[in-house]
Amino acid sequence: MSTLDSLNLKQPDEYKLPKPQIGVSACLLGKEVRFDGGHKNNKLIVDSLSKFVHLKSVCPEKECGLPTPRPAMQLRQQGEEIRLLVNKTPFNDITGQMMSYAEQKMHSLSDLDGFIFKKDSPSCGAFRVPVVINDDGYRNRDATGLFAKTFMQHFPLVPVEEEGRLNDNSIRENFFERIFAYQRWKNIETPDTNVKGLIEFHSRHKLMLMGRGSSYYQELGRLVAQTTRINLREQRQAYISRFMLVMAMRSRPGRQVNVMQHIMGYLKEALSHDDKQELLSVFESYRHNELPLITPITLLRHHLRVHPQPYINQQYYLDPFPGQLALRSSI
Ligand code: SF4
Repeated sequence: MSTLDSLNLKQPDEYKLPKPQIGVSACLLGKEVRFDGGHKNNKLIVDSLSKFVHLKSVCPEKECGLPTPRPAMQLRQQGEEIRLLVNKTPFNDITGQMMSYAEQKMHSLSDLDGFIFKKDSPSCGAFRVPVVINDDGYRNRDATGLFAKTFMQHFPLVPVEEEGRLNDNSIRENFFERIFAYQRWKNIETPDTNVKGLIEFHSRHKLMLMGRGSSYYQELGRLVAQTTRINLREQRQAYISRFMLVMAMRSRPGRQVNVMQHIMGYLKEALSHDDKQELLSVFESYRHNELPLITPITLLRHHLRVHPQPYINQQYYLDPFPGQLALRSSI
């Protein structure tokens, strides 16, 4: 058996937590709720991701009372405002109807750990949604669907993505890193009195933060160091707001290699010269885009199984989400 074949898929106990709850635009789950009566079934979400998360289906247009099929809709700039119009006429403005529904819907979505929205939808699109800006029909792509915008304003910490962007391996990986980190945060016991819980969370995400840049770990560490039982509530809020922003940054290969070399340092007494050379060679191949991240990660996991290092083994860096998700940025 080769070194890589001996991968140990043992996961941290945290993956015994309930599956995260992810909201999804209903048409992506194959529901025939689109304006033309069709759907946009997304195999990645329906066949693969559904094994690791609970999916909560939401169709804002249907749930706000519109029929299916229905005329197409568009966002239109009117002065300072962006309005949601049916059938491209200003007389069928359903902005109020959608916003009223969206505001009421939010309380039933407060348990979500993430949301996958349908791209380009005037209701569900999260990024760069087309908006008509003049009577000639000229469009900018800089709006957000009204429902998605309401969700993001109510739950600014919750990771959101669009189904199209999830086809990019590194975006998908980053999204799942954030979902599972956020779920771990929400599962800290007695959070309002548990300073130790905050310290442990920060400490166990050290290498993940360093993968974005060591200054972020230090910056968040200063927040943790200034935390007492008296100011815990405010410090926790400040911490998780910044943590989720940092986690949304994508790590570059050079930073990942720095972290992996740091891990290798814990193994320096245990590894043979050949083992070290093999690791360094795999790190460099990953750095030059010749191998996916999973390859050096798998090799490190193997060595850590043979030569356990308690400090590294409690880090989430090597196992940020259930291993069966089979991510880790293919090339
Ligand atoms: S994009 Fe959103 S509003 Fe449109 S059909 Fe899909 S779920 Fe419904």
